[in-house]
Amino acid sequence: MIRAVWDNIKGLYSLIVGLSITARFLFSPQKTVHYPRKVVDPESLSSFRGPLELTPAADNSAQSRCISCQACVRACPGHCLTVVKGQGKAPIVWTYNFTLCCLCAACVESCPTGALRFSHKVYMVASSRQEMVLDLLSDLEKNAAVAND
Ligand code: SF4
Ligand code: SF4
Repeated sequence: MIRAVWDNIKGLYSLIVGLSITARFLFSPQKTVHYPRKVVDPESLSSFRGPLELTPAADNSAQSRCISCQACVRACPGHCLTVVKGQGKAPIVWTYNFTLCCLCAACVESCPTGALRFSHKVYMVASSRQEMVLDLLSDLEKNAAVAND
């Protein structure tokens, strides 16, 4: 009998604690958005790590700052990156397998020219793994074309 009463008191206490937490969050500012009716405020994405992108060169937004040194390729624990050097220092192939990336930033931090950065793409979707293998040189050119339109 005493045990049953004690169990009920503990259950009631647990219920009150749970409801008080619910009430606290019910009236605090919302931290999520009802996508797709609303989207995340771009300013809130400044520290968000989306898939990698190449940083454009200062004098040509369609060219990357990459000098094909392979430092990022060596630093990457997930073997996500493929960089193939062309005739000069500029790469002719720059692919990034986003499915293998843990967003650790080792590549970004190891790059001597600041050629890599995390994008703020939060709404990226794909229907196959292959679509997540990204050609960053091509993406850079597309971004430059959109910016120059
Ligand atoms: S963020 Fe990390 S895992 Fe992803 S590509 Fe860079 S080094 Fe590799
Ligand atoms: S570390 Fe930087 S410069 Fe070197 S290959 Fe990677 S992106 Fe290019």
